[in-house]
Amino acid sequence: MNFKNLARENEIVALLSDLVAIESVNPEYQGGQRGEVAVAEYVADFLRALNIEPAFQNVIGERANVLGTLRGAHDATLIFEAHMDTVTLEPMPDALTPKIRDGKLYGRGACDDKASLAAMLYALKLLQEHAAGEHANVLLAAVVDEEVACRGVYALVQSKPNAQGAIVGEPTNLMPVNAHKGVVRFRIRTRGVAAHTAHLEQGNNAIYQMMQVIRVLRENIEPRLSARALSKIGAPTICVSTIHGGLQVNIVPDECVIEIDRRTVPGEINENVLREIDAVLDDLRKREPSFVIERLAPDLADYALDTPRGAKIARTARAACEMIRGATEFGAVGYGTDASKLSELAHIPSIVLGPGDIARAHTANEFVEIEQVAQAAEIYAQLACEFVKRET
Ligand SMILES: [Zn+2]
Repeated sequence: MNFKNLARENEIVALLSDLVAIESVNPEYQGGQRGEVAVAEYVADFLRALNIEPAFQNVIGERANVLGTLRGAHDATLIFEAHMDTVTLEPMPDALTPKIRDGKLYGRGACDDKASLAAMLYALKLLQEHAAGEHANVLLAAVVDEEVACRGVYALVQSKPNAQGAIVGEPTNLMPVNAHKGVVRFRIRTRGVAAHTAHLEQGNNAIYQMMQVIRVLRENIEPRLSARALSKIGAPTICVSTIHGGLQVNIVPDECVIEIDRRTVPGEINENVLREIDAVLDDLRKREPSFVIERLAPDLADYALDTPRGAKIARTARAACEMIRGATEFGAVGYGTDASKLSELAHIPSIVLGPGDIARAHTANEFVEIEQVAQAAEIYAQLACEFVKRET
């Protein structure tokens, strides 16, 4: 069975246009209302039309993941996962009106992530039409809240899905991505003593304390991270990305807070990342006993992805890409995805693979090449068939 050229572009365009036209801005973002609710209903209807009974997994209020399983004649199960939420419609004019130009479909979510969602749904249809059950069971998981806190995939993980591999649809230009960075975000606060600026001797300047904190991060942490560069994905990084402190110009500031974004590479453990920071801060406290420095609990601690290229899901994904598109290499990316949560927490080997270019996501000019969406559907269907043919 080879699915090359079996996807009908007019049907793909209709499906993706429907999805783009349904507003599903994450409610945490400007303009977000009911979030993914209407898209979830559309996905459920699509599944019902294929005689797949959808299940709703409540995540946040009425916002629910939609799950549906296409059964094959084999025991193995694959998860096809894509998210239903989008970023804000601003600054894209007419973001909910899909437009087609030069083989591209424009609109909010056209690339991130409705192209992947459409291709995964369409892959189920291709499998039903052409594969006669000779494929893995496919658990389609359309999830909520990827753009903000990933609560959709966490709920999916908690339901303990039984699967031997997962494909997470995100814009990778149809390159199978087996590695990506993780991220730990946290704040550091310094506390001083407020005083009239005419009496500096009575105060303790929290901003001056923070200067020293930032300096030790740059001088002690940054060089260590550069030394940890991996050829496939580069070095881990640290960035002080916000700073707030001080009340008004004639008061010695009694508090200063920075936010830090620390990107991890495969092999780094989040607890150790924080321990390394704490050790450096401890040294500073010893040198400067009047400083009050607090490292707060992380606001976000996500994992890196590092699925071995020899893993069955990785080999199968690459083989499916080659059957549909020709020679294919694995990729590694800097951004995070739901794949690392499925890998790390549910122990399901995962690959990120989807149509579109991440550089187009979240922009005022978001689009996806229609041919890529059609090929993605073919690749996903192919993958579900190849997965049951390969040795473990
Ligand atoms: Zn996305």
